[in-house]
Amino acid sequence: MFAVTILGNNSAVPAFDRHPTSQVVTLDGNNYLVDCGEGTQIQLINYKIRRSKISHIFISHLHGDHYFGLIGLINSLSLLGHKQEMHVFGPSPLKEIIELQLKVADTQLCYPLEIHHITEAATLLDNEKLRVKCFRTNHRIECYGFTFEQKKQPRKLNLEKAKEFDIPAVFYDRLKNGENYTRKDGTLVENESVTLPAEAGKKYAFCADTKYDETLIPHIEGADMIYHETTYLDNLRERAESRFHSTTKQAALIAQKAGVKKLLIGHFSSKYDTLEEFEAEAREVFQNTELALEGVCYEV
Ligand SMILES: [Zn+2]
Ligand SMILES: [Zn+2]
Repeated sequence: MFAVTILGNNSAVPAFDRHPTSQVVTLDGNNYLVDCGEGTQIQLINYKIRRSKISHIFISHLHGDHYFGLIGLINSLSLLGHKQEMHVFGPSPLKEIIELQLKVADTQLCYPLEIHHITEAATLLDNEKLRVKCFRTNHRIECYGFTFEQKKQPRKLNLEKAKEFDIPAVFYDRLKNGENYTRKDGTLVENESVTLPAEAGKKYAFCADTKYDETLIPHIEGADMIYHETTYLDNLRERAESRFHSTTKQAALIAQKAGVKKLLIGHFSSKYDTLEEFEAEAREVFQNTELALEGVCYEV
């Protein structure tokens, strides 16, 4: 399954039971954490997401509402006896900040921690299942969004046909990977006759904190789902602009222009106690919009 679980959907100050930004992208049992605002650890526990399954953490920028929970999580993993390598990606000087926090506490982590600074649009992770890239957004300080692209899926097996051709079950995985099968009598079974084409991999984009900026579009174009911040309702466009944030209709317009399938909105200002209006306004421009609600898992 390829999905995103929201841990925090609020902006700077926690309010109305909402937490600062954090979300978990899950693909086939692996968890990738995106931003780590204060309270992320507790939210992981609340929603029963295994910390030990997190191998990569992506930090968009160094405003506190996006990383003040990071040192706590790093520390707890060590106390819990975490063993696997942890890779953290974020802008400079994240590495120095974390290293200083560990140094003054005389903390020796019991697992390898690698902090990688990101400085420009780049590919951060590329394994057999997933490719993660980052791109600049337009915020008050250096800030990055992330795209998660699922690699092409295996071909689908037509079980009846495979049985008809007497292909042994141990060969099924190789069929799914596109191989032909040669029978004992030397006749060839073409892959296309026993499998169906693979589904294209899906794409999710996290657009971080940003003001309205169409230069984001090439990075997120055609995505199956994007998350775009909507700190304010649309009547506060000027305030959004001056604080390098976006409004509902601006986020929806980006989604529409980028031709994405679904829009999640979040990073709500603490001045709003209810969120219905956010959804209604965004839907005026882009119908398939949903509020990014904490604890909810959205399938990509
Ligand atoms: Zn923020
Ligand atoms: Zn920010």
